[in-house]
Amino acid sequence: MFQVCVLGTSSAVPAFGRNLSAHVVQHNQKLFLLDCGEGTQFRLIRNRIRLRRLSAIFITHLHGDHIWGLAGLLTTLSLNARAEPLTVYGPKGLAQFLQMQFALTHSELQYPLEIVELEAALHDGALLYQDNRLTISCFVLQHHVPCFGYMLREKPKRRRLVADRAHADGIPKEYFHLLKQEVGFTLPDGREIDPNHYLGPPLPAYSYAYCTDTQYAPSIVPHVRHATLMYHEATFLDDMAQRAAETAHSTASQAADIARQAEVGQLIIGHFSARYHDLTQHLEQARAVFPDTHLAEEGIWYPIAPF
Ligand SMILES: [Zn+2]
Repeated sequence: MFQVCVLGTSSAVPAFGRNLSAHVVQHNQKLFLLDCGEGTQFRLIRNRIRLRRLSAIFITHLHGDHIWGLAGLLTTLSLNARAEPLTVYGPKGLAQFLQMQFALTHSELQYPLEIVELEAALHDGALLYQDNRLTISCFVLQHHVPCFGYMLREKPKRRRLVADRAHADGIPKEYFHLLKQEVGFTLPDGREIDPNHYLGPPLPAYSYAYCTDTQYAPSIVPHVRHATLMYHEATFLDDMAQRAAETAHSTASQAADIARQAEVGQLIIGHFSARYHDLTQHLEQARAVFPDTHLAEEGIWYPIAPF
């Protein structure tokens, strides 16, 4: 199971029922939180997402609309008796931002919190997290303050055993683990077994790219190339390209152009300015450049697989 739930699609302020940035990615039994705008914990509850299985948090940058919810959420986890350690990744300043709030509110977390601060000069493309099946790396975005995108990528999967074929050739079950590990062996009857004969192609490995906030930045293309699904901010429409450049944000067609260059599978756009109620034009302008574009909808679980 590899999927993402978008909890907020508004930039700067809540508007028209749209909330502030936060994404929850589920990979098998683990959950990862990307950004934590104000109100994130309420939207987690509303969407029945329990963070007991939260493995790590990744913050893009220290603008309030992406982090005002973080101290509250971390405190709630503590009140909910979390005991497992938790790591939060984000730009330099994140530790001071959190420690000051905890100190002034006399909040003491009952679990070990590790804060990993990222720097552009050191961490562009850096691998931050990995388990048996997934890696998470960061890359530098172009914003007015230090800002990082994140790439969640499944590790290459094992080839699938074609058990029927092995059965048909009379290979006893106790040898199947060797086949799965692609190890050759000799049976008691003297037959040399080549595992390749009994293995199908590997299942495809998928990936999710999270790109917000940023001005149009082709420098990120190598980092997100062939992502199965990419989220890219599209704060403005194309007639506001000048304003987008001034505020270090992207227009709808700029987001789509990054998707096109990176040859991603699908694009969802979000981080919409509060000046827009109707988002039809965002979709039209993006689709003119990258047809498989969708408006991010809050509360929907998007499969990170071709859909
Ligand atoms: Zn920002």
